Amino acid sequence: MVASIIILSIREIIMIKINSFSSFFVANWKLNGDFKFIDQFLDNLQVPSDNSKCIVICPTSTYLDYIRHKKNNFYVGAQNVSEHEKGAYTGEISCNALSDLNIDFCILGHSERRQLFNETSTDVSLKSSKVIEFKIVPIVCIGETLEEKENGKTNNILSQQLEDSIPVSSNSDNTIIAYEPVWAIGTGLTPTLEEINKTHQFIKNHNTKFENFKVLYGGSVNANNANEIVSLSNVDGALIGGASLNYDDFTKIIKD
Ligand code: PEP
Repeated sequence: MVASIIILSIREIIMIKINSFSSFFVANWKLNGDFKFIDQFLDNLQVPSDNSKCIVICPTSTYLDYIRHKKNNFYVGAQNVSEHEKGAYTGEISCNALSDLNIDFCILGHSERRQLFNETSTDVSLKSSKVIEFKIVPIVCIGETLEEKENGKTNNILSQQLEDSIPVSSNSDNTIIAYEPVWAIGTGLTPTLEEINKTHQFIKNHNTKFENFKVLYGGSVNANNANEIVSLSNVDGALIGGASLNYDDFTKIIKD
């Protein structure tokens, strides 16, 4: 009891100040990587000394503890968490467990979680609210499918996802939004630069509450296109899947 109070108060002191960073580069390793991969990746990764860039690596959960002991100018994030604090939820991981490991970020509502594991925006909101209680920053993913885009529904879908996935306790100091068009994830396809910038502007203008939120872009970001995407006026960084598994590519993305 006393120990957990101490841990919580230490976390309060070292809570990440989102607004102190100019850009974010979040590596989503999904269900990839093992000890050998991690050792090789971190031995070769070159993290810029520029502290204004926030680099976050999100491994599969079993490697969170290993990788956080090897932290070197980067932060560690989880890819999901339970909305429940404890109890009969076999296979789940709690915010308390993430907090014990000093995990600073947690990706929530990734389209793979929504599509393959039937997570709803309500689930995402509950999880986001819970991680915020534990001083962990949720990176809340939203995005339209190809069919929704082709039917001109992108903005409606994003509005609904924003309303339902972002909890009342979220603000620009404790939550990050990631716009990830579902059709762009892992496909090599991306919206045009103009479309990305416009959509991010739409998200930020959707509600005065979101005006100062950091909004990251995700979906087929690679070493060749990252720089021009992240330089867009309404883009505050990138969430990177496939290209974050290659240390040369990821180094180039975060260095540019
Ligand atoms: C992702 O999984 O969040 C992602 C953006 O993947 P990729 O970069 O491979 O499209």
